[in-house]
Amino acid sequence: MKSEAKKYASRRREMVEKQIASRGVTDPLVLETMSRVPRHLFVSEALVDSAYGDFPLPIGEGQTISQPYIIAEMTQSLALKGYERVLEIGTGSGYQAAVLAQIVYKVYTIERNNVLFLQTRKLFDKLKYHNIVTRYSDGTQGWKQEGPFDAIIVTAGGQKIPAPLIEQLSVGGRLVMPVGGNFSQELLLVEKTEDKIKTTNLGACRFVKLVGQHGWQE
Ligand code: SAH
Repeated sequence: MKSEAKKYASRRREMVEKQIASRGVTDPLVLETMSRVPRHLFVSEALVDSAYGDFPLPIGEGQTISQPYIIAEMTQSLALKGYERVLEIGTGSGYQAAVLAQIVYKVYTIERNNVLFLQTRKLFDKLKYHNIVTRYSDGTQGWKQEGPFDAIIVTAGGQKIPAPLIEQLSVGGRLVMPVGGNFSQELLLVEKTEDKIKTTNLGACRFVKLVGQHGWQE
């Protein structure tokens, strides 16, 4: 009989080939990392069998973990090399942070929902992700004491990019965030240089709401 570990490893390979590489993600660091991170451990037991499917999944508290392809595309857009300190807004299940943590030096992740915050903090400890630092607060205000960051990823959608996040991005840094209305957004990539901000639209997407001082009101 195939061991559990082998079963999930082969599902991950299939996910990377059929959902991610086939749609144009080429960064070897992203492909290799996503073929290793055990996505099934970041969803509830009832959903373990669907963990590698080509769709988002509920993670409780009305929130969702993104479809694998979107995670891959957002991660690739940050053009990470390995030395970076990255800020994530919206820890949720912790899967996106775990993918980042396998690529970069350190991940700072903020969650505003206390149930998800506590649950995922425990999971990071259990799975020994020692380079992920967590915080329970409103991520639209960033994490000033720890900034500036080489990259920022916002995994919930807002009407505009929160100003504190642009401020806390290093010169030469990249930020990716879904921006738009209630039901659909555009994935925007921001590149910050000495004297300007360049924005690229990576295409349509759909995320849960970014709620906070510089996001949607509750
Ligand atoms: N990156 C997550 C995606 C979770 S969904 C994953 O890999 O599973 C988005 C998350 O953003 C939700 O958990 C939601 O509670 C959180 N969120 C929404 N607004 C926030 C804010 N202002 N600060 C921090 N987290 C926020």
